Amino acid sequence: MAIVRCERCSEPSDYLEVCDSCNKRVCRKCVKSSRRATKHERRVICKDCWTSVAKRKKFKEKVVTAANQPEEHHFERRPFKRRPMKR
Ligand SMILES: [Zn+2]
Ligand SMILES: [Zn+2]
Repeated sequence: MAIVRCERCSEPSDYLEVCDSCNKRVCRKCVKSSRRATKHERRVICKDCWTSVAKRKKFKEKVVTAANQPEEHHFERRPFKRRPMKR
Protein backbone atom coordinates (compact mmCIF):
# COMPACT_ATOMS: atom_id res chain seq x y z
CA MET A 1 0.00 0.00 0.00
CA ALA A 2 1.43 3.31 -1.05
CA ILE A 3 2.01 5.95 1.54
CA VAL A 4 0.49 9.23 0.50
CA ARG A 5 1.58 12.55 1.75
CA CYS A 6 -0.64 15.30 2.97
CA GLU A 7 -0.61 18.17 0.51
CA ARG A 8 -0.74 20.69 3.30
CA CYS A 9 1.78 19.55 5.92
CA SER A 10 3.64 16.95 3.78
CA GLU A 11 3.35 14.34 6.48
CA PRO A 12 2.89 10.78 5.33
CA SER A 13 -0.54 9.46 6.08
CA ASP A 14 -2.60 6.45 5.17
CA TYR A 15 -5.79 8.42 5.21
CA LEU A 16 -6.32 11.63 3.29
CA GLU A 17 -9.47 13.53 2.62
CA VAL A 18 -10.03 16.11 -0.05
CA CYS A 19 -10.75 19.59 1.16
CA ASP A 20 -14.01 20.77 -0.27
CA SER A 21 -12.67 24.27 -0.77
CA CYS A 22 -9.11 24.02 -2.11
CA ASN A 23 -9.27 20.37 -3.26
CA LYS A 24 -6.05 19.52 -1.50
CA ARG A 25 -5.67 16.05 -0.11
CA VAL A 26 -5.12 16.59 3.57
CA CYS A 27 -4.47 14.34 6.55
CA ARG A 28 -6.63 14.07 9.63
CA LYS A 29 -4.56 16.63 11.48
CA CYS A 30 -5.09 19.22 8.78
CA VAL A 31 -8.81 18.65 8.56
CA LYS A 32 -10.45 21.34 10.60
CA SER A 33 -14.01 20.24 10.20
CA SER A 34 -15.86 17.47 8.48
CA ARG A 35 -19.52 16.94 8.12
CA ARG A 36 -21.70 14.38 6.55
CA ALA A 37 -23.65 16.17 3.92
CA THR A 38 -25.59 13.20 2.66
CA LYS A 39 -25.53 9.50 3.33
CA HIS A 40 -22.75 9.07 0.84
CA GLU A 41 -20.98 12.39 0.91
CA ARG A 42 -18.62 13.89 3.40
CA ARG A 43 -17.60 17.50 3.30
CA VAL A 44 -14.19 18.34 4.63
CA ILE A 45 -12.47 21.66 5.12
CA CYS A 46 -8.78 22.05 5.88
CA LYS A 47 -7.30 24.40 8.43
CA ASP A 48 -6.07 26.78 5.76
CA CYS A 49 -9.50 27.28 4.32
CA TRP A 50 -11.10 27.46 7.74
CA THR A 51 -9.17 30.65 8.48
CA SER A 52 -10.79 32.28 5.50
CA VAL A 53 -14.19 33.52 6.55
CA ALA A 54 -15.52 33.44 3.02
CA LYS A 55 -14.47 29.86 2.47
CA ARG A 56 -15.75 28.78 5.85
CA LYS A 57 -19.08 30.38 5.16
CA LYS A 58 -19.26 28.70 1.79
CA PHE A 59 -18.44 25.36 3.37
CA LYS A 60 -21.24 25.70 5.89
CA GLU A 61 -23.69 26.79 3.25
CA LYS A 62 -22.83 23.79 1.11
CA VAL A 63 -23.29 21.40 3.99
CA VAL A 64 -26.57 22.92 5.02
CA THR A 65 -27.88 22.96 1.48
CA ALA A 66 -26.92 19.36 0.94
CA ALA A 67 -28.30 18.25 4.29
CA ASN A 68 -31.65 19.75 3.49
CA GLN A 69 -31.93 17.64 0.37
CA PRO A 70 -30.46 14.31 1.39
CA GLU A 71 -32.52 12.23 -1.00
CA GLU A 72 -32.12 14.57 -3.93
CA HIS A 73 -30.19 12.18 -6.12
CA HIS A 74 -32.82 9.49 -5.73
CA PHE A 75 -35.32 11.49 -7.66
CA GLU A 76 -34.77 11.48 -11.35
CA ARG A 77 -36.58 13.90 -13.46
CA ARG A 78 -38.94 12.04 -15.65
CA PRO A 79 -40.38 13.60 -18.71
CA PHE A 80 -43.78 14.80 -17.75
CA LYS A 81 -46.42 13.86 -20.22
CA ARG A 82 -49.40 16.05 -20.39
CA ARG A 83 -52.54 14.10 -20.64
CA PRO A 84 -55.68 15.72 -21.89
CA MET A 85 -58.27 16.01 -19.16
CA LYS A 86 -61.12 15.09 -21.47
CA ARG A 87 -61.52 11.48 -22.35
ZN1 LIG B 1 -1.52 17.34 7.02
ZN1 LIG C 1 -8.62 23.71 1.92
